[in-house]
Amino acid sequence: MTVLTERRADVAVLRLDNPPLNGLSLATRQALLRALEDAQADASVRAIVLTGGPRAFSSGADITEFGSPTAYQHPNLPTLIDALEHCTKPVVAALNAVAMGGGLELALGCHYRIAEPNCRLALPEVKLGLVPGAGGTQRLPRALGVEAALNLITSGEPITAAAAARVPGQALLDRVATSADTLLDEALALAAEAAQQAQAGQPLPSLRDRKACHPRAEGYFAFARAMLKGQARHVSAPLRAIDLVEAATRLPLAAGLAQELQVFLDLMNTPESAALRHVFVAERAAGKIADVPASTPTRPVQHVAVVGAGTMGSGIAMACLNAGLRVSLLETQAPALERGMGNIRSTYEGQAAKGRLKPEALADRLGRLNGTLAYADIAQADVVIEAVFEDMGVKEQVFRQLDAVMKPGAVLASNTSTLDLNAIAGFTRRPQDVVGLHFFSPAHVMKLLEVVRGEQTAPEVLATAMAFGKTLRKTCVVSGVCDGFIGNRMLDPYFRQAAFLLEEGCSPQQVDRAIETFGFPMGPFRMSDMAGNDIGWAIRKRHYVEKPQVRHSRLPDRLCELGRFGQKTGAGWYDYRPGQRDGAISPVVNELIEQHRASLGLAPRKIANEEIVQRLVLALVNEGARILEEGVAARAGDIDMVYLTGYGFPAWRGGPMHWAEQQGLYAVAQTMRRFASAPHGDADFWQPAPLIARLATEGGRFHG
Ligand code: NAD
Repeated sequence: MTVLTERRADVAVLRLDNPPLNGLSLATRQALLRALEDAQADASVRAIVLTGGPRAFSSGADITEFGSPTAYQHPNLPTLIDALEHCTKPVVAALNAVAMGGGLELALGCHYRIAEPNCRLALPEVKLGLVPGAGGTQRLPRALGVEAALNLITSGEPITAAAAARVPGQALLDRVATSADTLLDEALALAAEAAQQAQAGQPLPSLRDRKACHPRAEGYFAFARAMLKGQARHVSAPLRAIDLVEAATRLPLAAGLAQELQVFLDLMNTPESAALRHVFVAERAAGKIADVPASTPTRPVQHVAVVGAGTMGSGIAMACLNAGLRVSLLETQAPALERGMGNIRSTYEGQAAKGRLKPEALADRLGRLNGTLAYADIAQADVVIEAVFEDMGVKEQVFRQLDAVMKPGAVLASNTSTLDLNAIAGFTRRPQDVVGLHFFSPAHVMKLLEVVRGEQTAPEVLATAMAFGKTLRKTCVVSGVCDGFIGNRMLDPYFRQAAFLLEEGCSPQQVDRAIETFGFPMGPFRMSDMAGNDIGWAIRKRHYVEKPQVRHSRLPDRLCELGRFGQKTGAGWYDYRPGQRDGAISPVVNELIEQHRASLGLAPRKIANEEIVQRLVLALVNEGARILEEGVAARAGDIDMVYLTGYGFPAWRGGPMHWAEQQGLYAVAQTMRRFASAPHGDADFWQPAPLIARLATEGGRFHG
């Protein structure tokens, strides 16, 4: 049963009961329609209260049904709302906790609405590249007024019931309940009053009968469009929503609803909405680990120790402080410790100076931070995160120490980017407690956290690491142990392709511009200049020894040999003036590229931007497919989340694996084969990963 009916005197209470958040799945819609019809047919019922549970009234449509026939099966959401609106007995929506999307639209079909003060109301469809599809764009402006409704619809952000009730002239909420505890009783009282009024012959109120007006409609909508234009470059939903809200001010409800449905269906078929819906689902799936069920116990984490107060250690410490945890920061030398503590302090002070951090919060954060040079001071921490130099010898020293001093049950984490986590775990007598926590720089800002599962990492430790990441508000993706984990491993062929493109005829600017036009915030050369070209150089030197068969362009090495490490040295693929992050075209680099081509006997050719994009993104995709097949990532969606949250892949393209599927894996494999057989081609590089080759012939999907 997904809807429970109970009687309170002559009021029928219909309670949505589809955990966790009362998604409006087909079964729930069917049950609700049945319960509504029963209550209407029952002569002893004088009014109806529709409510949810403590966690939600309803979070809206069931997203897994989106685009599938089930979403349209009877009763669909508009039909259900129509039934509520035309119910002959007063229906009161009693809104608990969350009324979002279809959930709010359902409430808008009821005759009366009451909400607990903290209930969050939202129409978040634009975040999925859609507009509300069950009357939201037509009824909300009638209920809340045009401007407030438009803000809600185009932002997708929630408003609390208490705030909504303060909007002048609003008819969204008839009442705000005193508290969540009294909501039902107050809803019952409202229902009793409504029943009395109905009995006295008063017509039932309906948003259908209200007008959505704006005193300066034309100017206002033009202004709203101008405001959203930049943001709507890749996603058309916000602008389409403005059209619909404007239609609500001009058209009768039925005509507006018909227009809304058409726009909704149009948008549903856009690639950007498919991508954003994929991201929504992938984000929620990323936290799930097949053999570590949600019921796996986790260890409490309140006190975190960070070893190493450099770039990463300081950022990780701030991420933990921001989440309300206690942090001990350990270094071996006082000057390094002072530098790290000073960096943290000055970052927070900078935020406070800009008004982004209140003085109390600044004091609170620094009050929870403690710097030390003694391992004894961190022994009682629940989690310790090592962020020392990327050197196995140093890691060994640190982990042996940690093993000796840390309390039993402490989680021992390493932030290593490239070293073998299993080997690191082997330095301890408790490899089951060792896990990788691969943060991205700056660690207090970047959303991504790769949680690296060692061969012996215990399920409980993995579950604790995931819960800890969630506390830090990170998007956590589990990666197996391999060189570079998911994200950096894929970056390797991406950078190799970028360098080959230079050899063949591109300039760094052309490559960067092409992929930035595709939607990345930064192309490979600007990115490498920012991160430091020496980092890639060090990794390549290791690869030359470990994987001599892999083909590299030596051009990036030539650049490093000139000391052009990027922004930090004022020169990399671009030239940088002091204090400026925007690079200028470098004649030195142009000369270097030309000499390099000449030394290889390569005549530059003209390369289309489309080829640049395909070669860079398909380089990611091919490695992603290998990662998936090897089980390093559990799902293609996990790989997408890594690229979306850690590497700037445009959300409206859904991530590399989703993008590849949208092209069709057959087409992807064909394109790779075309690159392999081109005169300048690299047959080894463009060998489609076995998974892609198989899915291309089977017509399969990564996400299936
Ligand atoms: P960093 O050089 O800025 O900082 C390292 C710090 O560790 C220094 O302050 C050093 O004094 C300290 N240290 C060295 N040996 C120590 C020891 N035995 N005990 C305590 N402290 C010690 O380096 P970083 O960029 O912060 O990188 C740290 C780790 O994080 C590395 O493993 C790196 O691969 C990884 N990582 C770096 C990035 C990045 O973008 N910089 C991103 C992800 C992961």
